[in-house]
Amino acid sequence: MAVTGAEAEMFRRQLLDWFDKHGRHDLPWQNPATPYRVWVSEVMLQQTQVGVVIPYFQRFIERFRDVTELADAPLDDVLTLWSGLGYYARARNLHRAAQRIRDHHGGRLPERLADWEALPGVGRSTAGAILSLSLGQAHAILDGNVKRVLARYHAVPGWPGRSAVLKALWALSEAHTPQQRCGDFNQAMMDLGATLCTRARPACLLCPVRDGCRALASGEQQRYPEPKPRAALPVRRLRMLLLESADGLLLEKRPPTGIWAGLWSLPECPPEEPLEALCRERYGLDVGQSDPWPAFRHSFTHYHLDIEPVHAVVEPIAGAAGVADRDLVWYNTGTLSRGLAAPVSRLLDSWKKGA
Ligand code: SF4
Repeated sequence: MAVTGAEAEMFRRQLLDWFDKHGRHDLPWQNPATPYRVWVSEVMLQQTQVGVVIPYFQRFIERFRDVTELADAPLDDVLTLWSGLGYYARARNLHRAAQRIRDHHGGRLPERLADWEALPGVGRSTAGAILSLSLGQAHAILDGNVKRVLARYHAVPGWPGRSAVLKALWALSEAHTPQQRCGDFNQAMMDLGATLCTRARPACLLCPVRDGCRALASGEQQRYPEPKPRAALPVRRLRMLLLESADGLLLEKRPPTGIWAGLWSLPECPPEEPLEALCRERYGLDVGQSDPWPAFRHSFTHYHLDIEPVHAVVEPIAGAAGVADRDLVWYNTGTLSRGLAAPVSRLLDSWKKGA
């Protein structure tokens, strides 16, 4: 996935022309865009939208006017001003990094990428953003917005959390990053991702780089970047019993906690449990003829449930407690004004059709 010099130049020109007219130039950390202000804003923006960050940033900068004030402040004061912004590890790292700058850099903010990357809470992309946005140094960045733009523009397959995909995206970001106006270019990439190339429904008609966008050309903008692959869900097996007597089909109320809590369901058991003994001991029923019905799968968020239904003709054992004493009811084909779990409804429908 190579980028030719001509393509990179065209991309850069289109993006910067758009940025000059439509980019964001009035964010509080842009005026003035000192390394300290850009650093604080970049950390706040790591997991949070611009609109939420702005008032937090302003309060923070008023209270901690420079890195030394931040370093000297008690952590509790920093956390108090962070309160409501979430992901508090960011605030702790910011405070620790400020102390390190005070103690190891004489209170002067670093001007080298490697020095920034060595600070707590500052990764490669944040370090590149701080130095390019505040000092105009030429460093590539790759935050979530930039990943999305590049993955779509170049139709990069795979989940960006995979190291090979991440490596490919970094290479593309480097190939696009210009030596001149790098701060504006990086801000423009972030703005494009935040305002037009959004996660849902990107506004491609307004996009300055639409002519070269591979995802747009194939109509597959939503395919990129690919989401994290879902882990295979575990599978559980369960036997559901359609116990039919002359009075109808036996339903049992489920316990107040757990799946389908409080709903009416069919009696159930592990698939290996002997049917006759279970019906006798638990329900006071004798089992006559029994037939397995086709198994089917019901999926929850965290697991699949493979349901193996068994239909059995049953008869109450004379003298047994019967069903009246418990959360049990004989259901016939009339209307049922009770909550039913979806797979149970499905089985009742099948039973009614055959009944
Ligand atoms: S054309 Fe659409 S998908 Fe491609 S970069 Fe622009 S906004 Fe994103």
